[in-house]
Amino acid sequence: MADERRSALMRTHSGLHVLCGVVFRDYGCLVTGGNMDPLSARMDFNLPEVPPGFKEAVEHACNAEIAADRRIDVRVLPRTEAFAIPDIVRTATNLVPESVQDVRIVDIVGLDTQADGGTHVASTKQIGRIEVAKVESKGRGFRRLRIRVAD
Ligand SMILES: [Zn+2]
Repeated sequence: MADERRSALMRTHSGLHVLCGVVFRDYGCLVTGGNMDPLSARMDFNLPEVPPGFKEAVEHACNAEIAADRRIDVRVLPRTEAFAIPDIVRTATNLVPESVQDVRIVDIVGLDTQADGGTHVASTKQIGRIEVAKVESKGRGFRRLRIRVAD
């Protein structure tokens, strides 16, 4: 069903924001890539070393942010104002073209603020539950996290 798929994608995409926010906050890593299907996704980070217990710690922290039921707000700011926010671009490469004058900001209030164009659920509890299925090493400083989103 189209609505079901859309809702699953919104939850998964919002879950990736939580993952991105947690990994940036706790490990200082930027995103180098990602992809998603309904209820499963991967996100790549520039993480030089994988600390012991990383997978469990990330999963626990993500679900704590979901349990906190943080509001997910969207607003549009003029480019200069948007880029005055620290760490507003969370990808290793700034993907916002120079020509873009109005930047859409997605704010998981209290966790993560970034420039983004996707659709999201209204608060983190609506994501459900995040399972970090796998942490893969794909090369020097290149880690791939695979997640599943469950009810
Ligand atoms: Zn988004």
